[in-house]
Amino acid sequence: MKFVIVSILLLGAVFAAPKIDSRLDQAKECSANVACKLPDCLCSSTNIPGNLNASSIPQIVLLTFDDAVQTGNYYPYYQKIFNNRLNPDKCPIQGTFFASHEYTNYSLVRDLYNEGHEIALHSISHVPNVTYWQAASTNLMTDEIIGERDLISYFAKIPKEDIKGVRLPFLQMSGDTSFEVMSKNGLLYDCSWPTQVFTDPPLWPYTLEYKTIQDCQIGPCPESSFPKSWVVPMIDWTDDKNVPCSMVDACANIPTDVDGILAFMKRNFKRHYETNKAPFGFFVHAAWFQALEVHFTAYLKFVEYLQSLPDVYIVSVSRMLEWVKNPADLKNLSKPWPKCNEPKKTSCKLTTCPHKKQGEWGEEDRYMTHCEATCPKSYPWVGNPLGNK
Ligand SMILES: [Zn+2]
Repeated sequence: MKFVIVSILLLGAVFAAPKIDSRLDQAKECSANVACKLPDCLCSSTNIPGNLNASSIPQIVLLTFDDAVQTGNYYPYYQKIFNNRLNPDKCPIQGTFFASHEYTNYSLVRDLYNEGHEIALHSISHVPNVTYWQAASTNLMTDEIIGERDLISYFAKIPKEDIKGVRLPFLQMSGDTSFEVMSKNGLLYDCSWPTQVFTDPPLWPYTLEYKTIQDCQIGPCPESSFPKSWVVPMIDWTDDKNVPCSMVDACANIPTDVDGILAFMKRNFKRHYETNKAPFGFFVHAAWFQALEVHFTAYLKFVEYLQSLPDVYIVSVSRMLEWVKNPADLKNLSKPWPKCNEPKKTSCKLTTCPHKKQGEWGEEDRYMTHCEATCPKSYPWVGNPLGNK
């Protein structure tokens, strides 16, 4: 799996080519004489928003998970990580789940949402072919990303307006395409774009109205202007041989004992916590916990360590962006965060439907569990997100 991720990253770098769309406005330099002001515009930089001091602001931590949400990751891992843990303001800690469609249990997606977590988008098909994503047309990207929003909204009973973010499969950018689809469909942010250059001090999130200073690792990256579209950069970690990694499970050279893994996590965290306190992302797949039990033990110890720090807040990506739009010091956190993200109580008519999916070697069985009382006519897929064709 690590090899796959590394190979994909390399492939992306090799094939990176500009993909400029002449229908869109080219982004201009974000210089001092342009009108770029919060809450809707922020130039890319390592400066703390609002010119606040690092010592006075919260250190925000983002815990995210990608791919299918299933009983095999919800019960043994997600429940143990998040249940009964509070931030210093007594609000529950939150995670962000970038869900892809296949094998996802939508009733568990709804449970995560009801528990106060953020559900975000990671495509319907998750096709394991980086060229597919790199060369995707806006129509295909819309079917994959907005189609997944339709699916989650219908089958997990989550309001569309609460689904705000995207992580592209394999972190494979598609130039302007995914950002055009995001901005046309009211999505707020992308969290697919790694940086190896701006890690110490790390880059803060920013909007794409003006040109970015960010390095493009898995291009092509966007070139056009997308006002009010936020980039939440994936600040690379480094493994113990100093090799950069965007997802923690892609960090190849790490210890295999709990204390060693915990030290590796703290070392990467301190690059944020002891500099400009840009949001610290712990981006990983639950499969990493299944691979080695010590990974999960160290993860829980790391979360406990974070909770021992009085200025650390573990929040969803969109709640983090509320802070960036309305930066406030630790004494004034009610300005960006007037209340906790209350647990929701959406109803669910739990249903499991058998389907056939056309696979490479013929029809395959798929069972889809969701909150809609009746089974769809066919297995929901790209171009047919509700399965009614
Ligand atoms: Zn994925």
